[in-house]
Amino acid sequence: MKINDNFLKIESSYLFSTVAKKQREYQQAHPEADVIRLSIGDVTRPLAPAVIEAMHKAVDEMAQEDTFRGYPPEYGYDFILEAIQKNDYADRGIDISKDEIFLSDGAKSDCGNIGDIFSVDNKIAVCDPVYPVYVDTNIMAGRSGDKDENGAWKNFIYMPCTAENNFMPDLPKEKADVIYLCFPNNPTGMCATKEQLKKWVDYALQNDALILFDSAYEAFIVEDDVPHSIYEIEGAKKCAIEFRSFSKTAGFTGMRCGYTVVPKDCVFEGHSLNPMWARRQATKFNGVSYITQRAAEAIYTPEGKKQIKEILSYYQKNAKVIYDGLREAGFTCYGAVNSPYVWLKVPDGMTSWEFFDLLLEKCQVVGTPGSGFGPSGEGYFRLTAFGNNQRTVEAVERIKKYFK
Ligand SMILES: *Cc1c(COP(=O)(O)O)cnc(C)c1O
Repeated sequence: MKINDNFLKIESSYLFSTVAKKQREYQQAHPEADVIRLSIGDVTRPLAPAVIEAMHKAVDEMAQEDTFRGYPPEYGYDFILEAIQKNDYADRGIDISKDEIFLSDGAKSDCGNIGDIFSVDNKIAVCDPVYPVYVDTNIMAGRSGDKDENGAWKNFIYMPCTAENNFMPDLPKEKADVIYLCFPNNPTGMCATKEQLKKWVDYALQNDALILFDSAYEAFIVEDDVPHSIYEIEGAKKCAIEFRSFSKTAGFTGMRCGYTVVPKDCVFEGHSLNPMWARRQATKFNGVSYITQRAAEAIYTPEGKKQIKEILSYYQKNAKVIYDGLREAGFTCYGAVNSPYVWLKVPDGMTSWEFFDLLLEKCQVVGTPGSGFGPSGEGYFRLTAFGNNQRTVEAVERIKKYFK
């Protein structure tokens, strides 16, 4: 037996384990310290009442012989696919058909699994800093090659996103085959306008490239000129796959549900990707639980929409508190407007990790060093809006007091 030795190339998740370790050590050394975590990448508000109610009802159905459900359809029940098609696409004037939508257990799995349908020989382009899933899954698949002397994977194209380009990746100079884009972005909290996305769609169409568009944070968009879907851009149905998640939208991180759109017009080497993904899912995935699908359906009801909006505004309030407070304290900040993330420039002459230590020691606040998301994240720092309102206010007060 031979193992997939690509796995040996992957570094253990150094970032979050180191953050947790440093916090633990500090707490042990200072048992009285009241440490506040603005590093959480998980939601904290409970599920909306409409969602809970839908689940209770579904549970009762599962208890009766005549309403019990076994295996769900591999791609999702009609009721949820119709709700998605109507609310996320048709109502925005986007023509996506039901059989182009594939319900799943979340965007992370789909972002990772999508690589099954394209060749190992493709040249991958990723933003830097980046959501690590895009990188690690391509290393596992054998697309990375070896590391160069700077620690970068030789076969990947890195697209730096820094203050210099306003965190918008530049078109790659060498030809990319598969391009990962995520807007609103994790970790920078920045978004692409229609015009900026059009540049990417045009590039993909001209270069026979595929865009993998992660819009896990779509629900945080508040500004008018920010597209909610890549299919708002003309031509995108020919070159883009879109990943959506109910995790950040509706607090479903523990529920596990999302979906992926693979348009039939996405044709490469004469083959549509839609039936390929359908085949992949039918073979390796047995569907999302009925109870979860009913829960997801409830997000799209009038009460569900209203309740979710309130939960999102809770986080949006935190984002504003962090953004405004940090600016008052003299920091240069990005993100926060259409995003639960605030991305800030650490003081001159400090590394991201040095700033992490300083913030923990002087303010008892934990954040995430930008360098953990890629080399171009060095000198930046991520704070998240997923915490408790009062605790967030308290954390920001401490930072203001120390740095002002
Ligand atoms: C949180 C997050 C997701 C969501 O993943 P799920 O598996 O649906 O919970 C996807 N992409 C990014 C960039 C994220 O930050």
